[in-house]
Amino acid sequence: MIFRELRPGITVAGEKIPAFFSDVLSPQNKYIYLIAGVHGDEVEGVYVLQQLFEKIKNSSEIELPMIVIPILNIDGYRANTRGNARKVDLNRNYPSDQWTATYTQETHYPGTAPLSEPENQFLINLFAKFPPGFILSLHSWKPMLNYNGNCLDVAEFLQKYNSYEVVGEFTDHPTPGSLGELAPTKYNASVLTFECPLLSQGKTLAEIWAENEKGLYDLFKSALIKSKIT
Ligand SMILES: [Zn+2]
Repeated sequence: MIFRELRPGITVAGEKIPAFFSDVLSPQNKYIYLIAGVHGDEVEGVYVLQQLFEKIKNSSEIELPMIVIPILNIDGYRANTRGNARKVDLNRNYPSDQWTATYTQETHYPGTAPLSEPENQFLINLFAKFPPGFILSLHSWKPMLNYNGNCLDVAEFLQKYNSYEVVGEFTDHPTPGSLGELAPTKYNASVLTFECPLLSQGKTLAEIWAENEKGLYDLFKSALIKSKIT
């Protein structure tokens, strides 16, 4: 599948945020998003997305209306920090109904206002132009498939390959201002927050990719993924 580069976003520090479009128009005007690096220090998720993107680009079997943002938080990725250059946790800064200025941990600082950060403004502007139907957001933490909205089926599809834990709404810790909270209510889009294992848990990047390669590739070839944008 051929992609073209869209006009990039600009980070707090003035760096470009590359984004790519598959140039396949969606009859229902719903798009599949692949996003990584919302948290800049989560290199495992960034790596898996890089590999997946290469595989999709080289595939003649996949034809989907798709937007790919390999690293949203470029400044954080360069500095190896979770937050952006203003120390904002971008996944607590989305304009959901539950957004709050209150936070308990420094690393979850939500910013001064919802959508205060240019990286997130860039994403929300893309949503206006290419409305999301399904978002795969790659992170790293403990291996987990965290679904919000109508994508338990996608989580269970992937679990058959990687055996990661499938989790819905977190009952023990709320995530106000997260993408998983925003997209189902504001865009009627489902979000799979795909938590890769951490390198510190003993696996290499190559091993993390290897345990996910077939599942992710099969997902993007499946009728299931198409059902999320029709
Ligand atoms: Zn994360």
